[in-house]
Amino acid sequence: MAVTEERDVVIVGAGIAGLTAARELRAHDPLVLEASDRVGGRIWSKQCGELAMSVGAHMFPPPDSVIGGFVTEYGLDVLKITGSMLNLALQDRVIQDARPELMPFKLPLSLRGRASFARAGLKVKRIGDEYMRLAVQQPGETAADVRLRLLRYGGDESFADFLGPLHPEAEQIFRALCNRTIAEPDEISVSAMAALFGHVWDTGDLGRNMRGGSGLLPEAMGRELADQIRLQTRATSLAFDGAGVTVGFQGPDGAGSVRARAAIVAVPTPDLIPFMADAMTPGFRSAIDRVTFGPHVVLSIRTGEREPMPWDDLYSILTPDYAFNMVFNHTNSLYAAGTPKQGSVLMVYGGAQRGYALLGKSHAEIEEIFLRDLDRLYPQVRSNIVETWVMPWAHAGAFAAPGRWRAQETLERGLGGRVFLAGDWVSDFVSMETAALTAIDAAANVRGVIERGGVQQPPTRPVVVPRDPKATKRVQAFFGDASAPEE
Ligand SMILES: Cc1cc2nc3c(=O)[nH]c(=O)nc-3n(C[C@H](O)[C@H](O)[C@H](O)COP(=O)(O)OP(=O)(O)OC[C@H]3O[C@@H](n4cnc5c(N)ncnc54)[C@H](O)[C@@H]3O)c2cc1C
Repeated sequence: MAVTEERDVVIVGAGIAGLTAARELRAHDPLVLEASDRVGGRIWSKQCGELAMSVGAHMFPPPDSVIGGFVTEYGLDVLKITGSMLNLALQDRVIQDARPELMPFKLPLSLRGRASFARAGLKVKRIGDEYMRLAVQQPGETAADVRLRLLRYGGDESFADFLGPLHPEAEQIFRALCNRTIAEPDEISVSAMAALFGHVWDTGDLGRNMRGGSGLLPEAMGRELADQIRLQTRATSLAFDGAGVTVGFQGPDGAGSVRARAAIVAVPTPDLIPFMADAMTPGFRSAIDRVTFGPHVVLSIRTGEREPMPWDDLYSILTPDYAFNMVFNHTNSLYAAGTPKQGSVLMVYGGAQRGYALLGKSHAEIEEIFLRDLDRLYPQVRSNIVETWVMPWAHAGAFAAPGRWRAQETLERGLGGRVFLAGDWVSDFVSMETAALTAIDAAANVRGVIERGGVQQPPTRPVVVPRDPKATKRVQAFFGDASAPEE
């Protein structure tokens, strides 16, 4: 293929990982190839007056995270989620604001179901706590060291094996939780479920929504990097080429290629394999094959009511016996911040098997299946609908299956000393923050190649750990005061 242009670095994918890498490498005038007609990837929202509908990432990390820093820098506004995240609907009854330790007593379960749920709940609490302790970066450690440690923790055991036999009533609740992490209990490692419990329920470190919709962040980054980003341009090949790497692409003006000194690949593995397969060594390929992605089928619903609704004070509800496994109220933070009511935005999604069951269906069918079940929970929704948006993500996120940790060092190293990987799937937990952190490390590796002729260990950089006093106390108890997170 004739080389059409030369760059220091080419970045494939303009999700939050590719955008973060491009920002980090701005001094080297990177070229970013993005297959779709927008930036942001799995962060996707649209504004409807003061409301915003979202079909992707919606919960933001604290201000002292990398993403939090971007939010401040671009002058965006995140609002605290005030409604409880610990709600559960069973047998068409919403059990609100149930503290984990009280859940077994509040849920409509049989005696045996309750005992089984309580026993498993204690085990789960322990791994969530342990995970958050292990997430604290120790002096001299890199972010990659922390990722490996977290993936290794319970990394060879499935969540189903860890829980052992459960009463069917308890089993369906834990299955719904696993579906949130896009997997079934026998597919996912203890490590991955500990990450979910640690981040979402234990610490609430993802407790913010963006005013105007999450998409405002990648849009702002995309505007700043507009000269570097080429939309509707899909990478179609990658080959090592002397001391460089050549990436072939298909864009609006036809096929082309770019030769660069290094590349960052920031796309999910199912998108990476088609254009990188020929360049992969067997070891790298088997590491890539250890990464498992699953679906989320999402419905965002905007309603127009002005009067109070029963979901107003809630943020998220786990729904084990519905076609979807989660309901979110994206207007919770907006109204808690004092905005007068002008409708609601709810999001429901079905992950793992619930998602696979819906993937082949039309958007109208998906909408009807979800609305029919939502009628059971909140019959007020249907008559107030103004607008809906269906998004069937076939590859919504990666989950760490047992053994996934064994691929980690290879993934961190990249390929051939010149191709580096970024994205949530390179990490232990699927989030904007983990995607951005891996991008910062990939960019440091690229700088090593460009500026110093080879990869160097990325500098140690603090990983943000939750700042709530409960979590800080636990960290102090485990490591002593010296290694507790800085306030
Ligand atoms: C329903 C849902 C809810 C979520 N909720 C949250 C949440 O509340 N909080 C949170 O932090 N995270 C959440 N996430 C996860 C979060 O969205 C992701 O972790 C993060 O956005 C991943 O970013 P990324 O850059 O790694 O990948 P992506 O966003 O997938 O970006 C990859 C980009 O690469 C492009 N691409 C693919 N193939 C090619 C190719 N061959 N050539 C060029 N470009 C290509 C794609 O078009 C895409 O733009 C959620 C995800 C989903 C789906």
